[in-house]
Amino acid sequence: QKLLVIGSGGREHAIAKKLLASPHVAQVFCAPGNPGMVEDGIVTLGISELDFEALKGFCYEEEIDWTFVGPENALVAGIVDSFEADGFKIFGPDKRAAKLEGSKDFAMRFMNKHAIPTARFETYQSSETALAGLAHFTEPVVIKADGLAAGKGVVIATTKADAEKEIALMFKKGQKQIVLSEFLAGPEYSLFVVVGKNGHRILPLAQDHKRALDDDKGANTGGMGAYSPLPQLAQADYEKMVTEVVEPTIAGLRAEDFNYCGILYIGLILTKTGPKVIEYNVRLGDPETQVVLPRVENDLALLVEKALSGETLPEIKVSQDACIGVVIAAEGYPGQYETGQVLPTFTETEQLSFDYANVAEKEHELIGNGGRIVTVLAKAETLAKAQAEVYAFLATKELTGCYYRHDIGTKATQKKY
Ligand code: ATP
Repeated sequence: QKLLVIGSGGREHAIAKKLLASPHVAQVFCAPGNPGMVEDGIVTLGISELDFEALKGFCYEEEIDWTFVGPENALVAGIVDSFEADGFKIFGPDKRAAKLEGSKDFAMRFMNKHAIPTARFETYQSSETALAGLAHFTEPVVIKADGLAAGKGVVIATTKADAEKEIALMFKKGQKQIVLSEFLAGPEYSLFVVVGKNGHRILPLAQDHKRALDDDKGANTGGMGAYSPLPQLAQADYEKMVTEVVEPTIAGLRAEDFNYCGILYIGLILTKTGPKVIEYNVRLGDPETQVVLPRVENDLALLVEKALSGETLPEIKVSQDACIGVVIAAEGYPGQYETGQVLPTFTETEQLSFDYANVAEKEHELIGNGGRIVTVLAKAETLAKAQAEVYAFLATKELTGCYYRHDIGTKATQKKY
């Protein structure tokens, strides 16, 4: 088989590698991809993820069997509708279903309609009404821009004055709609569901680290590291996630007659009164994918194939190994940062691997070319071992103009490096 992956980040590097590991797959292309993928045998294409006509042209010419969509922007812009209209097979939800990520208001209404536990919320279309609506909440209050904001559209305001300032700012920056919601306290987990045309399967859970700095300090980012499994999560709480959240969500997708054959990401907070959804994403998460896929023993290409054809999905076989991923980012990210830092050569071993994101090539060397540069991953029998390994490796590397967190996995291991 010949497959196409859409996107260019660490997540897409991990997806493409996993697909390429299938004995049924001869070639994996990635559009646009990045130069860090090439060494793994992934063929990158100079086509933007939003140039649907050029992508379909490529699929036609190369006789691509099916396409796996990584990022939300292509899904929200309707890549699935466009491909399906011309008879190309593609794994991802269509534009209408992608609104579950593309509009917070749409997602919250869906949850309320289908009795899926979430935060209390109210939606506003003007600064004046939103400011008045603040009276219905106690601080901290969560303020969300309604549309896609690449992880930067959410503010948790701890005082009323802060909340007022943020609301005014969001409308001033051009937001047409914002959602105010109740703050949920508790640990946050990422759960991924493979949604097939006929049935669904849950992938191993992971935990992301959204804040830029150690101890969850600093600004919100796209994600600075992740790990899986979650030994601190009690089986009973996991079961609640399945029965109270996953099952009604899938039933809701079917009841709304969504064209949803793809991955559904459920962002959860485990509150004192049980798991509650803070958001849906309509694709895999970055950097969680990088730690989840290495723990999935199934042939990913076969799994997607069955999801697309409507066959019964195989049970997910999960490796007992633990996986930790630490993101190396440009100094200053998510604010202003420099690019062009020369990266050391990373050599894959049995335990260590590397998923590249924002990199460019200069004189046969990889250089930084954006905020999140590469995810360094370690796999071992226990989380503690994987954590020790990834940080021992990082300590030996000179990473000028870069930074990373020293506590990825600490919530499970209580160790910090
Ligand atoms: P992403 O990049 O994950 O898609 P996003 O911009 O869509 O981000 P959310 O995931 O909804 O935004 O929120 C970002 C972060 O804000 C969450 O990871 C969580 O830590 C925090 N958050 C969001 N909603 C709540 C809530 N109701 N209570 C507490 N924290 C919340």
